[in-house]
Amino acid sequence: MSTALYRRYRPETFADVIGQEHVTEPLSQALRTGRVSHAYLFSGPRGCGKTTSARILARCLNCEQGPTDNPCGECTSCVGLARGGPGTVDVIEIDAASHGGVDDARDLREKASFGPAVSRYKIYIIDEAHMVTSAGFNALLKVVEEPPPHVKFVFATTEPEKVIGTIRSRTHHYPFRLVPPVRLQDYLGELCQREQVQVAKGVLPLVVRAGGGSVRDSLSVLDQLIAGSSDDGITYERAVSLLGYTDSALLDAVVDAFAAGDGATVFRVVDRVIESGHEPRRFVEDLLERLRDLVVISAVPEGAGAILRGTPEDQLDRMRDQAARYGAAELSRAADVVNTGLTELTGATAPRLQLELLCARVLLPAADGAAGYGARLDRIERRLSVAAPAPVPAAAAPDRGAPASPVMPTHHAQPVAAAPEAEPASEPEPEPTQEQPPEPAPEQSPGPPARPTTPPAPAPTPGALDVEAIRHAWPDVATRLFSMKKVTFMMVKDAQVLAFDGRRVTLGIASEGAAANFRAGAHGEFVRQALIDVLALDAQVEAVHGDTVPSRPGAQATAPSAPAPARPPADESGEPAGWGRAPAPAAPSSERPAQQAAAPPAGERPAPSSERPQRSDATPPQRPAPSDAREAGARPPREAPSPPAAPAAPIPPRVAPQDDHPSVDDDDADDSDLVGRPVVERLLGGVVIDESDG
Ligand SMILES: [Zn+2]
Repeated sequence: MSTALYRRYRPETFADVIGQEHVTEPLSQALRTGRVSHAYLFSGPRGCGKTTSARILARCLNCEQGPTDNPCGECTSCVGLARGGPGTVDVIEIDAASHGGVDDARDLREKASFGPAVSRYKIYIIDEAHMVTSAGFNALLKVVEEPPPHVKFVFATTEPEKVIGTIRSRTHHYPFRLVPPVRLQDYLGELCQREQVQVAKGVLPLVVRAGGGSVRDSLSVLDQLIAGSSDDGITYERAVSLLGYTDSALLDAVVDAFAAGDGATVFRVVDRVIESGHEPRRFVEDLLERLRDLVVISAVPEGAGAILRGTPEDQLDRMRDQAARYGAAELSRAADVVNTGLTELTGATAPRLQLELLCARVLLPAADGAAGYGARLDRIERRLSVAAPAPVPAAAAPDRGAPASPVMPTHHAQPVAAAPEAEPASEPEPEPTQEQPPEPAPEQSPGPPARPTTPPAPAPTPGALDVEAIRHAWPDVATRLFSMKKVTFMMVKDAQVLAFDGRRVTLGIASEGAAANFRAGAHGEFVRQALIDVLALDAQVEAVHGDTVPSRPGAQATAPSAPAPARPPADESGEPAGWGRAPAPAAPSSERPAQQAAAPPAGERPAPSSERPQRSDATPPQRPAPSDAREAGARPPREAPSPPAAPAAPIPPRVAPQDDHPSVDDDDADDSDLVGRPVVERLLGGVVIDESDG
């Protein structure tokens, strides 16, 4: 048998009370200077030191050496009021919950008139003071207002507003607060050392969370963990399971999956959460907590350790990694979604269902709003930075291969493609689908039939996206150049971004002389640097005269890797490659027809070994279609209009020759065009780019 931790370590002096310096310091000062009031009101949440402080105050007042802020600990009074001591007759603790009636108050009033038996003061500590009836308070009023000189009152309560104003106004009110987690954690760490108990990393933060800032509650939890600890001390696993928290491994898994848009894993984790008996609401709380940590980390990557104290370093590293993959805007959005979901989860009759719907919402790229665009920007930026190095695949085969960017590109592309043709309604669907689809992948077959045509188109290559992105970002690149090298800026400010094959950006300059000058100087290097600064894209920069990409051996070389069909047209001029979309469409078109006819999405999937995530994304669009419609409701209209406009204006002139070649593919080609451009427009700001002109 051992006494509870919180009793064994109950503070005996104000200096020992943690986290309440705002109360204990002025009290100590008052004791030192002899300005002691006759009545105090200690308020605050339970378990944070009110009653303990009241006893300490009594001890200070009645110490033979006192009144002092530092009781001697040796006199009769000090010993009697010490931890585990018998108390003294002159310090009377009254629990108002059971003795708050008017009779008790009258009784108290009468006894108060007698002087203390052995000590300096007769001190009444009235606990749970809010339980005193108003009749009781009124009976006390007189004595509290003008007590005999030997009487002191200390009211302790969690609800000071229930103490009638006439009493409250006659007291010095000291509000106690919850103890800050860091402070509490340090304190618990000390206790464990004194108790010689080994505690695994990450356990104390759990204890502090469970204690909710209350010292007594935290100590009780710790006490329980210590009682159940083995020779190894308190292990993380045991603490997690005993306290009902979500294992951080589960959280890691679900957050990683969210960041990757990997719906399959997300829902597998949800299944594990439920199957292992976790409470869905608790899981969501923990998930929200984790997202909050990630938000902090993404804001202060290096200093996060100081803010998230108690988090093991390896865990911090993992979370830094997660935050980097997630992106600040998307993190914030996910946290918002989860937060909202947490509210909805309250009282839900089917918590698992709610949890799954919540996960689906997090997986969805935000359908609208600034946060949604921010999240998309995050993704695009990441994609660009990742996609840049991989040249060939991006340009040609990009559809599947797109390395980094699984989710985003696909849906955008798809919606666009659909829109141009004549299916306005179809557009919305694609977006939502990509995320969720992953898990259901196998089942997709049902949905696809109708969609098949569109899906292939979306497969759009990352390369295509890049070229559009570069065009769109060209004003920024030019602005950057302006501050780097004005001459170069003058040359290229009106240039068109004709092509990007992953390694090389080809600019079309209207003036032949300017183009020649560009090639003659080191201007390409400046542009390259500007691209790195603005888009994190490291690529060679070349300039040609006019608005078409001359056939270039290099370009061809890159192209070959891509789908065969696309190439032929491309050769004549870099155009297809340059436009990005052009090549992509052509190639896919040839292949697609076959695929579509033969095998729906399922068939396609396996083929693209390049990346699973993308794959899943691509496929999903078809089946989730319905969901998209719901969620994206507002979107479709917006997107639909833009795509047609964009492609129509710029493309026709240059593409004309090529189009002729693959007449069969024309439809696809159109789709593909739409794919790249509209997507970018939407992502980056919704302005159709006549980059070339502007
Ligand atoms: Zn003493």
